[in-house]
Amino acid sequence: MSTGTCPHAPMRPLWICERCAHPWPCAEARLALMAEYAGDRIGLSVYLCGQLYDAAVELHRLNPDGAPSPQVLFARFVGWAPLHSPPLPN
Ligand SMILES: [Zn+2]
Repeated sequence: MSTGTCPHAPMRPLWICERCAHPWPCAEARLALMAEYAGDRIGLSVYLCGQLYDAAVELHRLNPDGAPSPQVLFARFVGWAPLHSPPLPN
């Protein structure tokens, strides 16, 4: 992930931002991902789903009884991303 000189990368297995300590992906990480995957919404969704899977496994392993629900994790990792790509050029 290219986030310049201040990466807002996930600290695993806690899945909080290494820089601002908010739940990852934090607002800055989302902005960076939007820029990195501009024009490739499918790629962004695939990446986020992979992160969601890893986070679900690791957070559940850390705290089996208190891990966020699948619904909460989906909204956090995938639900924020735009659903529709612009039309493909002809
Ligand atoms: Zn951050």
